[in-house]
Amino acid sequence: MNISDNLTNILVGLPKNITLIAVSKTQSENDILNVYNAGHKIFGENKIQEMTKKWENLPKDIQWHMIGHVQTNKVKYMAKYVYLIHGVDNMKLINVINKQGGIHGRIIKCLLQVNISNESNKYGLNKSKLFEILEHLKNNDSIYKNIKIIGLMGMASFTNDDKLIKAQFKFLQDLFLKIKKINSNFTTLSMGMSNDYLIAINNGSNMIRIGTKIFGKRN
Ligand SMILES: *Cc1c(COP(=O)(O)O)cnc(C)c1O
Repeated sequence: MNISDNLTNILVGLPKNITLIAVSKTQSENDILNVYNAGHKIFGENKIQEMTKKWENLPKDIQWHMIGHVQTNKVKYMAKYVYLIHGVDNMKLINVINKQGGIHGRIIKCLLQVNISNESNKYGLNKSKLFEILEHLKNNDSIYKNIKIIGLMGMASFTNDDKLIKAQFKFLQDLFLKIKKINSNFTTLSMGMSNDYLIAINNGSNMIRIGTKIFGKRN
């Protein structure tokens, strides 16, 4: 199987409302172009320098998603082009993204990352911090003009226990739906990777991030 067959195999079974992010971290520009030439233009990276180099070298109609942990001092490198930042989990980072959005005349779209696996992921907000941040942004919306929080992102535990994965995704879906009721900006629930995206979709995901199942094993 080649890369574009892998892509097709995922896309044929995918409901139309679900956005597929081809996670291209560590993959070559050539392999990314294979996917691009098969018609797919949405890619995800987890390192800002690597993503920026690829953005510079590859076609400009690619949507670049930052799916990894973001250091505040590196936001400036992606602020002019990044399409969506998935891993936002603190106010310091929100302030820097808002400032960089202003510098570049953009409204930068972001997701708040929620820690749904507790033990296995050190990043992400707990429920009370999440609501604290949303409340703060709402009460200061005249300041936060250059950042737009459009939903939530989460990563399930790395396990074969499908029941546990389902419970974690369900937890995030419940949070998402609750916020969506009172926040019209909330459109996007990013959850699901190569091994668990079908469970994620069954629990309300509308954005999946798939690397290995498209590109094969990472080096
Ligand atoms: C690497 C990565 C993925 C893709 O993982 P695969 O198992 O290769 O599909 C998805 N989301 C995040 C945040 C990642 O870092």
